Amino acid sequence: MKYLIWLVVLLAVVVWFQRAKKSMLAGSDAGDGAAADVPKPKASRFRRSADGNAETMVQCAHCGIHFPVSEAVVHASGAHYCSEEHRHLASF
Ligand SMILES: [Zn+2]
Repeated sequence: MKYLIWLVVLLAVVVWFQRAKKSMLAGSDAGDGAAADVPKPKASRFRRSADGNAETMVQCAHCGIHFPVSEAVVHASGAHYCSEEHRHLASF
């Protein structure tokens, strides 16, 4: 019975080490110094509005790009545009 407890503890330590090794490898694949200050893409995958909720994405009616609704330029017709320039171009 005493050995069973030690076996469980040893197993837990081995699993913990393997997870630590895996996360260390994932963290260091970005490179050696050169790209260390580049932000990870997954960090900015979801933009958060001021109240902490995920922001609604809209599509530019001119170029089709998706962007947060807070940055949208809204036409009188209700269409969303990514910039004032695209709203202007689309009105012709
Ligand atoms: Zn656009």
